[in-house]
Amino acid sequence: MAMDFTTFTNIIGGKATTTAETQQPINPSTREPNPPVPLSTKKDLDDAVEAARKAFKSWSQTTWDARKSMLLKYANAILDNKAELAVLSTREQGKPLMIAVLELELIAGRMPDLAEIKLEEELISDVQGRKVTKRYMPLGVGGLIVPWNFPVMLLVAKIANAVLTGNTVICKPSPFAPYTGLKLVELAQQFFPPGVINILSGGDNLGPWMTAHPGIDKISFTGSIATGKKVMESCSKTLKRVTLEMEGKDPAIILPDIDIAVVAGQVAFWTFINGGQACMSIKKVYVHSSIAKEFVTALIAATKAFKIGDGFEDGVFIGPVGHEMQYEKVVGFIQDIKKEDGEIVLGGDIERFKHSPGKSGFFIDPTIVFEPGEESRIMKEEPFGPILPIATWDDEEDVIRRANNTDIGLGASVWGKDVTRAERIGRRLEVGSVWINEHMSGLGSVPFGGWKSSGIGVEYGKEGLIDWCNLQGIYVTSEAKSIGFL
Ligand code: NAD
Repeated sequence: MAMDFTTFTNIIGGKATTTAETQQPINPSTREPNPPVPLSTKKDLDDAVEAARKAFKSWSQTTWDARKSMLLKYANAILDNKAELAVLSTREQGKPLMIAVLELELIAGRMPDLAEIKLEEELISDVQGRKVTKRYMPLGVGGLIVPWNFPVMLLVAKIANAVLTGNTVICKPSPFAPYTGLKLVELAQQFFPPGVINILSGGDNLGPWMTAHPGIDKISFTGSIATGKKVMESCSKTLKRVTLEMEGKDPAIILPDIDIAVVAGQVAFWTFINGGQACMSIKKVYVHSSIAKEFVTALIAATKAFKIGDGFEDGVFIGPVGHEMQYEKVVGFIQDIKKEDGEIVLGGDIERFKHSPGKSGFFIDPTIVFEPGEESRIMKEEPFGPILPIATWDDEEDVIRRANNTDIGLGASVWGKDVTRAERIGRRLEVGSVWINEHMSGLGSVPFGGWKSSGIGVEYGKEGLIDWCNLQGIYVTSEAKSIGFL
């Protein structure tokens, strides 16, 4: 069924619903307002919770195979609508159209992989007329809270993990980028029963209302560490389950034996993809000192090849920073870099775009800083923008220690022709995903999550599905035996 991609509503219990008040987030490339979206009230949340609880009764009884079949049809429909969805994505978040298409293809492609997994009831023992079984039961209603940087992939992943296991959901996109989420959930109505997948667009108060709501059983949150802590604190009041997917400060460790041009190209790509606004993008480099000079030269050359601009322009690879608050944060990082040690070897001119005709959006040049201090802000914190610090190393033990000397543990990559050495280093890194001679890849069948402050729980894989379930042990004795001494 053809959809209209110009007007946007909440979806509650399978129905499009509007709100008295609306909001208009802006396109970060042009600063022009996008169309109005709902500004949900507490009553809208109550209605969505009621619809999701009602739908849970029958959805939780649907067979796994039926749910899988609906999910796969939905994945295909996402692909069928990718052109329109990608335009919305570029308009709400600024990312290049080709990356927006890639995001849609990637998440649709992960669903069959995830749906291959089935949480079957397991017979643990069957001895002397007594059977003990373990089974996985859905939790109930999930609140799905996502950020603005990959609003498609992050939301659809949460929906897939939750509904495949028999849960119903209420989605909350970021107030900065609600458009693709609203249309993705509208599209889902063609495949799932009413009330299984609901969505509310709202302001800053909607997330806290959800985490406090007694009718929601679990919150699956992706966002910053600071917000994740608030989510967990609020969820503790009603003992909701939580999955938290938070910040990354992924190091790329570069061994001395690399093909410099190839690896510099890879590192530039996985650093500046989505303008550095990816939880798993490379956020610091440790390059072996023997090749540091040549590597930095090659990295600068590779980065200079990236075109910056509006995501609708041909050939653009780096779009704007996603919104004004984030832009000010990234500018603050550049200002701090200028006060600290380290040489800015590329970019760093925050005024340049302010004076470029036709570039009124939140653009920042990719910026590379060489040898900032190990304790500098840019080596420690996630800027979530196009800035890359580079440090050097000589001793393997030392670089492992430095890479692990952080409270952030999302991902890391090691690059080298000596794969044995690269893997040996990789296996000692305290992060949820390790890549050797690649970065940021993932499969629907492999659990994804962070260590330390980067996360609690996982998404994808068998374990990601288990995180959406209550476990139950069932002990069945064929006939009650009398208690001997009575
Ligand atoms: P954020 O924490 O500001 O917001 C994330 C979501 O939480 C938004 O929908 C927001 O409206 C909502 N929210 C805000 N305050 C809330 C509260 N008190 N209670 C409940 N919900 C609340 O993050 P952001 O700026 O939108 O996203 C960027 C961050 O997300 C980065 O730090 C990035 O690393 C992280 N991220 C992590 C992953 C991952 O998989 N680990 C993926 C993408 C982004």
